Amino acid sequence: MTGDAWLGAAPQETLGYLLLDFNAYFASVEQQLDKNLRGRPVAVVPLMADSTCCIAASYEAKAFGVTTGVGVAQARRLCPELVLIEARHAVYVEFHQRALKVIDQVVPLQEVLSIDEMRCALPARWQSPSRARQIGVQLKEAICDELGACMRTSVGIAPNGLLAKLASEMQKPDGLVILQAQDLPAKIAALPAQRLSGIGPRMAQRLAAYGVHSIGQLWQLNPAQMRIIWGGVAGLDFYDRLRGLERRLPARERQSITHSHVLPPHERTLAGALGVLDRLMQKAAMRLRKENLLATAMYLGVRMVDRHKWSAEIRFAATNSTPALLATLRDLWDKDFLMLAQQKRQPLKVGIGLFGLRQPHQTTADLFEQPTTRPDVAAVLDRLNQRFGKNTVYFGSAHHSRDSAPMRIAFNRIPDIETEA
Ligand SMILES: [Mg+2]
Repeated sequence: MTGDAWLGAAPQETLGYLLLDFNAYFASVEQQLDKNLRGRPVAVVPLMADSTCCIAASYEAKAFGVTTGVGVAQARRLCPELVLIEARHAVYVEFHQRALKVIDQVVPLQEVLSIDEMRCALPARWQSPSRARQIGVQLKEAICDELGACMRTSVGIAPNGLLAKLASEMQKPDGLVILQAQDLPAKIAALPAQRLSGIGPRMAQRLAAYGVHSIGQLWQLNPAQMRIIWGGVAGLDFYDRLRGLERRLPARERQSITHSHVLPPHERTLAGALGVLDRLMQKAAMRLRKENLLATAMYLGVRMVDRHKWSAEIRFAATNSTPALLATLRDLWDKDFLMLAQQKRQPLKVGIGLFGLRQPHQTTADLFEQPTTRPDVAAVLDRLNQRFGKNTVYFGSAHHSRDSAPMRIAFNRIPDIETEA
């Protein structure tokens, strides 16, 4: 990748990202649950002690200068009427779960960033500024209707995640800010560079040494300069994202590939469990090859209806061949799981994981690899499946369970349409 490719990049005009941030989340939940706290300065503390500090403050408290991180003694001096509340994490988690349901009914949830911050993907038909604004309003209203009027949020909508996050922080509380590519950099130029996520205190210091303090000044830098300041292509990536483009670098290197599945009642037998494990392994192997990775360790887990758990792990020579991985799965199963038959336990959920992932250049090929496990066979199968639909070609062992393990959305992972069945 060269700097020229970056200079030639077209600006992103779509509004594909919506970031929702709850205002003063813990304090708002407390005010929602106790009418007497509404309109009053409230601070949530981890425990009742003078030595501790506030982990959240209501906007009434913030008006007195009581913010997250302020010590309790000082907070009391700043605001003598401050009401201190001991944190109730289980309650905040419960509100969080309810919030996720409400959000996902309005706009597809993409990633949960923290207990009070979620990112959503706006479908193409909702990406005009007027429609995106309507969706934002609708989302904020749905949350107030379902969770309560104290649960205010700030919403940011922008062409990418970096700008959506910035937009969500530009108006608090109860904000709704849309940043379009055409607004850039005018709408954000005056903000300190450190308001951008990814620019922490150390990077801010580095930027300051180059005379860059505001986002406007950061905008003036060319890709080559950003590359030097960031010490690599991450600077080019930031240059792009500041302009609303999508991230081009992989977010981070993948550590493992895992899949799990709750067995439908008719498959809650050992044979059923093995069939689904087989199918999950084929999916994982396909994903390995798609990402051009090899695995060197495998994990199998089975949870029983009676909540007992069994798991086993094995290491092996680096491979991404489906037959090799399936053979290893069978060995592991025969060795560690067949005794479950004697115990007459009923499996409920199965999971597989591939670990110790390597890139091909980090490993040497197995000289004695059997012809049937050669990667090119697998590549042909992958291409057939991608071209003609899932499960066009698959290994016979998974035949009876090919409709199991359907696509699902995990909180921390965006499903990949190509490899998810
Ligand atoms: Mg917040």
